[in-house]
Amino acid sequence: MRRKLSCLILSFFCVSFIFNTQCSSAEDVSMTQKDKFNEQNIMADLWFQTSGEAKALYYQGYNIGTEKMNQALKKKYKKKPAVVLDIDETIVNNSPLDAKFSKVGQGSLNEKEWRKWIAKAKAKPLPGALDFLKEADRRGVDIYYISDRSDKTLERTMLNLKNIGAPQVTKNHVLLKRDGEKNKNRRRKLVAKTHRILLYFGDNLSDFEGFEYPTIKKRANKVDKMRLDFGNKLIVFPNPMYGNWEKALYNGKNNLSNEEKIKIRKSLLQGDD
Ligand SMILES: [Mg+2]
Repeated sequence: MRRKLSCLILSFFCVSFIFNTQCSSAEDVSMTQKDKFNEQNIMADLWFQTSGEAKALYYQGYNIGTEKMNQALKKKYKKKPAVVLDIDETIVNNSPLDAKFSKVGQGSLNEKEWRKWIAKAKAKPLPGALDFLKEADRRGVDIYYISDRSDKTLERTMLNLKNIGAPQVTKNHVLLKRDGEKNKNRRRKLVAKTHRILLYFGDNLSDFEGFEYPTIKKRANKVDKMRLDFGNKLIVFPNPMYGNWEKALYNGKNNLSNEEKIKIRKSLLQGDD
């Protein structure tokens, strides 16, 4: 009888072991490297989409921008005053596209998916953006939308801006990236020729002149050097989902696998030993 019971208990543990092993390997199989990679964006997307802090930071940026613009307009300038704004994650919210891939855990956000999203022209405005743009327009300030979206998307980009009610949306005011263009310098210089640029707005340091640095250290040093410009001439918005800050993690290396990226990300975390 005792022997029978021991056998029964042993069989139970064997079955449990096999079942557990099968379950965990099934989990590993369903969780591909791409899934794991996409899942790393979930917290960034959630913060951007749900946190009151993200919303407050947009209001804060545009409130400061309005105050600085109104102060600057008390002076007289030889050239017409202008403000320069980036579009994505500065004026419009593309986080639903990012979240789509984090949520399903499959596929990847590539140029094709990005173009499909742009073609829909349905991105919503970010908090405070429209109030600021309307105030600038009302005060007679020229608004320039300088974005690194491809100039092939000009028509749909303009449609999206018009859909949200942004002012001064004309071909002369929406300056997108030409093929082969590396940064926004040419377009910024073009505006500066005829205008006094009062403020720049962006979610990426490359939305501001002199920030085209690929490494973490160089970017950080430049930010320290330019500290007095932030909140005065340069208004920065938060974007934890993507940006040149992420490219800097990989030290300018392109074509890394998702696995390599995850490894680098973890190696750069400064943990308490
Ligand atoms: Mg942007």
